[in-house]
This record gives sequence, C-alpha cells and structure tokens, in this order.
Amino acid sequence: MSALNETLIREVVAEVLQRLGVVGEPSLQPDTQQKAKIDTGGRTTAPQDSGVSSCGCPGSISGSKRLRGRYGVFADAEEACAAAHEAYLQLSAAGVAGRQKVIQLVKNICWDRAQEWARLELEETRIGRLDHKIEKLKSQRSVPGVEFLQPYGLSGDHGITLEEFAPFGVIAAVTPSTHSIPTLACNIITMVAAGNAVVFNAHPGAYRCAVTAVRTFNQAIHQALGIENLACIIEPPTLESFQALARNEHVRLLCVTGGPGVVKAAMASGKRAICAGPGNPPVLVDGTSDLDRAARCVIEGAAYDNNLLCIGEKEVFVLDSCFDRFFAALERHGAVRLTEAQIERLTRAAFVFPQAQGAGCPHPTVNRELVGKDPEVLAQAAGIKLPAGTQLLFGETPPDHPFVLEEQMMPFLPVVRVRTVEEGIEAAKRAEHGYKHSAMIHSLDVAHMTAMARALETTLFVKNGSCLAGLGNGGEGYLNFSIATTTGEGICNPRTFTRVRRCVMVDQLRIF
Ligand code: NAD
Repeated sequence: MSALNETLIREVVAEVLQRLGVVGEPSLQPDTQQKAKIDTGGRTTAPQDSGVSSCGCPGSISGSKRLRGRYGVFADAEEACAAAHEAYLQLSAAGVAGRQKVIQLVKNICWDRAQEWARLELEETRIGRLDHKIEKLKSQRSVPGVEFLQPYGLSGDHGITLEEFAPFGVIAAVTPSTHSIPTLACNIITMVAAGNAVVFNAHPGAYRCAVTAVRTFNQAIHQALGIENLACIIEPPTLESFQALARNEHVRLLCVTGGPGVVKAAMASGKRAICAGPGNPPVLVDGTSDLDRAARCVIEGAAYDNNLLCIGEKEVFVLDSCFDRFFAALERHGAVRLTEAQIERLTRAAFVFPQAQGAGCPHPTVNRELVGKDPEVLAQAAGIKLPAGTQLLFGETPPDHPFVLEEQMMPFLPVVRVRTVEEGIEAAKRAEHGYKHSAMIHSLDVAHMTAMARALETTLFVKNGSCLAGLGNGGEGYLNFSIATTTGEGICNPRTFTRVRRCVMVDQLRIF
C-alpha cells in the first residue's frame, strides 16, 4: 500500500470512527488489545468492552456491552441483527482492505480445519461422506472475493459517471443441512466481499457445527480487525427466529438456500429474497459421445457426498440404441446394478407412501432416514451385499418412478430407457419440475444440446462433464454453494449481494 493510500485510508477511518463515537488513533494493524482470551478449558472469555458504542441508529439495542464477547452467537434474533449492523459499520470503516483480510481469514480457517469440521458436521447430520465434506471446505479457496466488483464507468461530453456495487448492510441467510459449514462459509466470503454483515438461521439438524464455525471466524476477525460480530448465528435456530430475522429493520435482504418450504417462506416475507431453491437434475445420454466418459462423469456427480449436491445427477435418460453399452460402462467404473426386485425393495424403504399402498402411490415422499446415507445402507434395504468401496447403485426404472420424480438425494441412480432424443428431453423436463436448476447432457450433437438447453431452461447446463464442472471443478467457472435458481441471480457471487449506485459528475472531471 502506498503512503498516500495509507494516509487517506487512515483519515477516512478516523472520520467514520469519530461519527460512530470511537475515540483514539485508528489502526490498520491487528487489534492486539482486544484479542479473545481462551481459557484453559477451551472456552472463550469476553474481552473488555471495546469502547465501540452501538450505532445509535433507530432500532439498535442500547448497551452494546450485551453484544461483546459473543463472537456472533446469539439466542435472540434482535440482538444478533443489532450486533451485525454495528459490525457492518465497522467493516465500512475498515475499507476494502478489511474485507480482503476477512475473506483470507475465512478461507484459511476452512482449509486448516477442513478435517476437523467435516467430521463435526458428519457427526451432527449423519449424512454424506467425510472425504467430500473435507473437499467442500478446502474448495472455499476458489470462491471469488472483492476482485469480482469492478465498477462500471462512463465518460462523455457531459462529464463522467460511475456505477458502483454498494453493500445492502445486514443480510439474513438460511443454510441447508446438506452442506452446513460450506454454505455458511461461502456466504460469508461473498457477502463480506460486497461489504455486508450477515445473520444466519441454520438448519436445526446442522446448526451446532455452524455455531462452532461462526465463533471461530469471529474470534479470528476480532483479533485481526477488532470486529466481533460480522457473521452472526442464532442458537438454536427456529422458524420463529427466521421470522424475527425477516422482520428486523436492519435486515435489508434475505438469502435462503434449501428446499421448497424455505423458498416459499422467504418469498412471503415481504423482504427482497435471493432464493437458492431445490433441484432434481436430469442427465441425457444420446450415444454420440464416449460412453465410458459419460459413465465416469455420472458416477462422479451422483456419488458425490452420497448425492447430497443440489446440482448432482439424480436420474439419467439413455437412448435405447446405447442403453446396454451405457449400463456396461457404469458397471466397468464400479457402480453396482440392482435388479427390478431389489429396486422395488429399496423403493419401499426409501419413500413413505402416505396410504401405505407401496410403490405406485401417486404422492410418495422421501424417507429422510435414507437421505445421504452410504451405498451399503441402501444395499442392505435392497437385500444385497456390496463389494468394498462401491460408490453408487443404479438400475433401470420407468420414467414415472419415485426415484426419478422425487429429489431423493441418495446414492442410487435410476436410469430410464427412451426411444428418441425428443422423448428423453420431454421426460427430463418433467423430472426437473420447472425448478430451472441443473441438467447435464453427454453428446457430440450440438442440435441435441441446443434442444435440451432450450427446453429445460436450467441455470446450469453441463455438456460432457459431471455436475461438478458446473461449479468450476473440471469446468471453467467459480464456486458457490448457493445457486439462486428460483429468483434467477444464478451462482451467487459478490455482485449478487450489492445495490447498484450511480455517481454522476456533470460537465467536469473528464480529462480530455
Ligand atoms: P430444507 O428445505 O429442509 O431446509 C433448508 C433450510 O430452510 C433449513 O435451514 C431449514 O431450517 C429452513 N426452512 C425450511 N422450511 C422453512 C420455513 N418454512 N421457514 C423458514 N425456514 C425454513 O432443505 P435441506 O434438506 O436442508 O437441504 C436440501 C434442499 O436444499 C434440497 O431441496 C436442495 O436441492 C436444496 N439446496 C439448494 C441449493 C441451491 O444452491 N440451489 C443448495 C443446497 C441445497
């Protein structure tokens, strides 16, 4: 940083802090006096009151001491929002350099704690796979930060204009059980890159690990920058705490990641909402491409974290002409085939049929006991024993089978035989339910690719790769675990969490 820049930043920081009622010399160095003290039992003790007064804005709670020493963890939604609002103002004062520091800390902590936190999340949720949970935490390094926010400049006879991507302030975010800490971490990186603070309502079955992560992030951020509650979380989360967050006047924006229920609740809140909703991604295999590659890709995506990914391959439509060869390729690459009778047994275990009618009931619902479980557990329900290391089960089903139509999130892949590409696209569209989430095709025929893309209109459309390529793993692009399908913002990035503000200088400042 040049001396001029540093002086300028100090002056701006001093002015903002003065307005906030903070006295003393602003520092760009780590806050050594306000370090959290960890007692020998591993608990965190509250530091001295930082002297930072509460913002004084309407609605903020009086007595900011109540916000000290919590490191983002609050039972009360109102307190959490007030603390996040104060942190948002502090982040504004810390500038872009402050945001960068926070992002680096979050990424480094996720990398360093990947094993420990992946295990913690797996023990709490009991869904998914340890190796992929570790990967999901390490992959936070590829989530974009402040570099994503390039202002848009205009220059002409009437002067110059700049459109800037400015923060909203406080965002309330809801995270899923399927990737609790990974979604929380990439939400923090992306939202803070845009200059916001955030309050989380995590899934009730996945919040303890999220609380651990939030506390750890805030302790590190406080040590480095003196900001204590930049990412807050409600402990324990409830539907009521979500409603309280949505109502709170500091909360300017909602970001929800989950199934249809939370999307509906967010849309009904009256606040602007970014909704990363459900999916049921279909795959089409037309036989014009390398079937071994197609089989490998499908296994990679569908087996990932036991098929918990919202973008993960959930059902495959294969042309009759190459069906048997594709089945053989799946077996060659280690997937295990179930017979019709075994699929029937698995279906009775994997779905709940409200009228106890068994398969064929029009409204089966997924049995959550089997969601994200290991293939061995599914195989046991199907009545077979698996070779060690099996990642995925598969078998032939009709197009209206519950495994095809429900978002089942289990490592069993239904494969449907179709006569033509048109029939396959039609069936894929029906299975996707208009979520406009994700779809894959394995083909070298650009007409087939184009027809499928136009028919399904999905946010992600991957050709000749696994679903992971859609998030930059094996394809070009950046990562985020929140894909705003329902509301259309696409894969979330720092720009998603900004307001566009225009600054106009009339007739002056153009340099030629
Ligand atoms: P879920 O819908 O059960 O829960 C998601 C979150 O919403 C949880 O925090 C839950 O407590 C909350 N929630 C649910 N109903 C609510 C309501 N009425 N009011 C307020 N909060 C409510 O989903 P899950 O099982 O945790 O996650 C899997 C689902 O999420 C799948 O449908 C998957 O496709 C989807 N998902 C989507 C994305 C995406 O980026 N589009 C990413 C991950 C998961």
